[in-house]
Amino acid sequence: KRLGVALVGLGSYAGGQLAPALQHTKNCYLAGIVTGTPAKAATWAKKYNIASKNIYNYQNFDEIANNPDIDIVYVVLPVSMHKEYTIRAAQAGKHVICEKPMALNAAECRDMIAACKKANRLLSIGYRLHFEPHTREVMRLGQKQVFGKVTEIDTANGFTYNGDPNAWRLKKAMAGGGGLMDMGIYAIQGSRYTLGQEPIAVKARQEKTRPQLFKDVDETVFWELKFPGGQKVTGKSSYNHDWSYLRARAEKGTFELQPAYGYDGLDGKINGKPMQIPNIIQQAAQMDDFATCVTLKKQSRVPGEEGLKDMKVVDAIYRSLDSGKWENI
Ligand code: NAD
Repeated sequence: KRLGVALVGLGSYAGGQLAPALQHTKNCYLAGIVTGTPAKAATWAKKYNIASKNIYNYQNFDEIANNPDIDIVYVVLPVSMHKEYTIRAAQAGKHVICEKPMALNAAECRDMIAACKKANRLLSIGYRLHFEPHTREVMRLGQKQVFGKVTEIDTANGFTYNGDPNAWRLKKAMAGGGGLMDMGIYAIQGSRYTLGQEPIAVKARQEKTRPQLFKDVDETVFWELKFPGGQKVTGKSSYNHDWSYLRARAEKGTFELQPAYGYDGLDGKINGKPMQIPNIIQQAAQMDDFATCVTLKKQSRVPGEEGLKDMKVVDAIYRSLDSGKWENI
């Protein structure tokens, strides 16, 4: 049976990427929506042929518990709402995919994991790159030490924010932070999955060139991560630079991705030669995999715990920005 997915929050990612990807999935389909805007509900219902009994708003959301058409709830809301809707969805008996960054901080992630466990529901984070073939190759090269041990990683992710100055992304209470939360999370994770290890400490600094726009959140953040293997690992995130790369140096070779983190096609090199790996619809692969996990009652390769690991690093980076010192993760 193809499982029914309900998208919660019909913003740019849900509308631009997830709903189109759900037209290409084999194990799940777009069965329902949750929106606070009746006009959007009507447009989506028509465009994607969604039954009116599968359309909810934020007030009647919990009634989704009584709807057998919905197996999976996909939370695509501002970060400050991730915890609440993940927990409500699990308590309504639904399996959950929650977008990145998982929550405002690691403490919220722990609550989400515990609530899903208690409700006996699977929780996954929208980490599409774990299903992406260039990224899988980097994981293999790094973790299997194909060119010997990785000794150095430098990675960056960011874009030049020219959007609405009043958007939730620029409000700390709703976004948890700026470029670090939104974009840096990928670069942090890139280092983790290249090495297949967890960092133990971090030192960070920041830079602001548009303090008016970014008065509430970070603009550009630079960090150095300490791993148990002693590798040199640097990273940066930004709302003021178009960055997307991961470069790894191993004892006997190099490999890199650029772009490394987007969904419009990745590319990379191994020892200077093009990877020549085809691109896929990442979100379709990600959602199909989760549907299979639900059917087989098996943990996703990107469970809540994976989101928590990244948020522990993010929390430590913010502590380091405050203290100016190395902070344990
Ligand atoms: P967006 O602002 O375009 O959409 C957010 C949606 O939430 C809107 O439909 C908005 O109406 C709704 N919403 C409900 N209550 C709201 C409130 N109180 N305030 C503001 N909006 C409210 O944002 P987006 O870019 O679609 O991002 C949503 C989530 O998806 C974020 O967690 C973001 O990090 C994530 N995202 C992930 C990727 C990815 O590649 N995995 C890409 C983009 C966004």
